[in-house]
Amino acid sequence: MHEIALCEGLVQTLEEQAGSHGFRRVHRVWLEIGSLASVECDAVRFNFDIMARGTIAENAQLDIMEVNGTAWCLPCGLTVDLHRFGDPCPNCDSHQLQVLDGTQIKIKKLEVT
Ligand SMILES: [Zn+2]
Repeated sequence: MHEIALCEGLVQTLEEQAGSHGFRRVHRVWLEIGSLASVECDAVRFNFDIMARGTIAENAQLDIMEVNGTAWCLPCGLTVDLHRFGDPCPNCDSHQLQVLDGTQIKIKKLEVT
């Protein structure tokens, strides 16, 4: 259900941006989603279409860019790929990992008129 709240927030943000930047229609949205953000991209697309109905973002195309999670491994002293929370370091199986990137959900670009 995380995705519904996310899309609600996304549409709300678009409406706010429309107010402050003076556009009327959103045609395309590029959304960056980290692999550690714990959201299903398909569910985001589905819910976005529903939430956008009757708003400035109705029928807007949603492009999702998935960003790989990365973490700093203490024992290795290396930056490693992390696909989901709770996974161990791919090099040494340690769980002493500090997440660096991949938890973000943000709008990267908009196509508007
Ligand atoms: Zn390691």
